[in-house]
Amino acid sequence: MKIIDVVDLKKHYVVKSPILELETTEIKAVNGVSFHINKGETLGLVGESGSGKTTTGKLILRLLSPTDGKIFLEGRDISNIKDREFRRIRRDIQVVFQNPYAALDPKMTIQDILTQPLSIHKIVPPLEYSKEVVRLLDLVGLSSKDAKKFPHEFSGGQRQRIGIARAIATKPKFIVCDEPVSALDVSVQSQIINLLMDLQKEYKLSYLFIAHGLNVIKHVSDRVAVMYLGKIVEMGDVETIFNTPKHPYTQALMSASTTPDPDAKRERILLKGEIPSAINLPTGCNFHARCQHCTNICITDEPPLLTFEGRSVACHLVKIKIPT
Ligand code: SF4
Repeated sequence: MKIIDVVDLKKHYVVKSPILELETTEIKAVNGVSFHINKGETLGLVGESGSGKTTTGKLILRLLSPTDGKIFLEGRDISNIKDREFRRIRRDIQVVFQNPYAALDPKMTIQDILTQPLSIHKIVPPLEYSKEVVRLLDLVGLSSKDAKKFPHEFSGGQRQRIGIARAIATKPKFIVCDEPVSALDVSVQSQIINLLMDLQKEYKLSYLFIAHGLNVIKHVSDRVAVMYLGKIVEMGDVETIFNTPKHPYTQALMSASTTPDPDAKRERILLKGEIPSAINLPTGCNFHARCQHCTNICITDEPPLLTFEGRSVACHLVKIKIPT
């Protein structure tokens, strides 16, 4: 059953041209993205910074309004509903932010931070707030004594646990996890990931897990979508994408990641240059200036995202067989 269905989602910004100040130009931060996430499933969204993955998460959370496209929550179109109505739906869609330091109000106790969503969404009667806060703290591995403390009294990992407790307080169906471990020490990253996975199993949660670290994505995801310059260039089951990446960009990302398996030898593919600006996108394939397989058609024609053999790929040469 689909919890989230995103169809041809776009976010374009009109900005002043960097060359001629009086003229405007468009930044296509998200440029026609489609995917779905089933109940209890994690879709890993991966790509370099500037690929549009965080903007995609913010569009689903309505922190940004889409320029075009549709977002369905359990079949209901929520892309253009009024803010007041969305606030009710917000109970079902929660977020765990990247930076647990910035995400918690330093002047509020943990009791107040966790009571806020309980009261806004009327999750339990006021008399039960304290009991529910203790239950939430216990679920994320913290103690009832922590309720009286302030955010600065906790470590980064503990603050992220509080952020997760706040996200699950409303009993959501779907959580956007926006780089939830990238600001944490490596030693605590796996604890937070395991906590998220345990909660997912217990409450059948669906996650959009945004990250640039491939090892994390491989560990948590059922399916993976690779983004480049506002578009999905490859998407499929985690084993399929990691074992046999087909798109040259996915291949380059995989080759650059450290693998814990010493037998999995993969020749390092060095990408030329940086990800281009989303202003004045390249013609044809967005990736052509950095692709070692680029041919004439890649410069003129944009490759469609085609689905075959259990995956979707946007590359002209995939059917001719790119070496893996
Ligand atoms: Fe490379 Fe061409 Fe495929 Fe784009 S369409 S990824 S430029 S081979």
